[in-house]
Amino acid sequence: MTAELLNGRELSDELKEEMKHEVEILKQQNIHPHLTVILVGDNPASKSYVKGKEKACDFTGISSNLIELPESVSEQELLQVIEGQNNDKDVHGILVQLPLPDHIDEQKVIHAISPLKDVDGFHPVNIGKLVNGEETFLPCTPYGILTMLESKNIEIEGKRAVIIGRSNIVGKPMGLLLLERNATVTYCHSRTQNLRELALEADILVVAMGREHAVDGSYVKEGAVVIDVGINRMDNGKLTGDVEFESAKEKASYITPVPRGVGPMTITMLLKNTIKAAKGLSEK
Ligand code: NDP
Repeated sequence: MTAELLNGRELSDELKEEMKHEVEILKQQNIHPHLTVILVGDNPASKSYVKGKEKACDFTGISSNLIELPESVSEQELLQVIEGQNNDKDVHGILVQLPLPDHIDEQKVIHAISPLKDVDGFHPVNIGKLVNGEETFLPCTPYGILTMLESKNIEIEGKRAVIIGRSNIVGKPMGLLLLERNATVTYCHSRTQNLRELALEADILVVAMGREHAVDGSYVKEGAVVIDVGINRMDNGKLTGDVEFESAKEKASYITPVPRGVGPMTITMLLKNTIKAAKGLSEK
């Protein structure tokens, strides 16, 4: 079997066209979706992610502003900036680009963002709603993956999903979303024993380890759907995933490439969440 590609770039282009139209309609109702992005320091990867987010906002007609703070900014100053954005009624979404410098407590910062403007879906109130199965802002990467699966009508109910990685932003919420859709979910992490055996049970295998090509075709059950979240920079400067694509695609029914897979979808779902925030829908 050679897998069909789950092309996140193409799907995200389609979704952005739809959102462009939606934003035009909102503007006619005098609703102008606005995202504030806060960037601390000058980590090149963070800068490039932020640029991508600004560009995507521009394309869909969502306005955005970037607040750049120096690496030396104090936690208190950052919290005050967030408070200002929380109180600004023209701002619908607030995103603080992670990671933050070591002297700033990331959790404190996430807690400080109003849950109603938390378009990353990281605030504990929104995570709690996700656990409860309530309407909320879904964390963008798992939301993007779910949207990709749905776009191909890939069955989730009753399927075995194995998630490798248990981070708060990818692995954990991914498992919750699949569980909510009646998959049987197994989480794996760095202390998991018999990783390959568990992975081989997966109908849907989500790999979010941050380890270049850690999973190859020998971890993939014939016909499985393989989602590669990893973004690793190789020695030659190119990006690659956690999955060794060539061998995995021979076993999988569907597979995401890196780049042009999960990455573009993550940004696209951020826009979706910003529009949702502008419509005031997170409380529904
Ligand atoms: P983290 O580093 O926060 O988490 C990595 C997870 O992988 C941890 O749970 C860790 O286990 C697990 N892990 C590490 N090594 C092994 C191993 N040998 N066997 C089994 N499990 C292992 O990463 P993130 O979740 O933030 O990101 C994962 C990857 O996805 C990165 O490459 C990141 O760049 C990428 N990413 C891509 C996005 C996109 O839009 N495409 C968005 C966000 C992230 P333990 O908990 O035990 O340490």
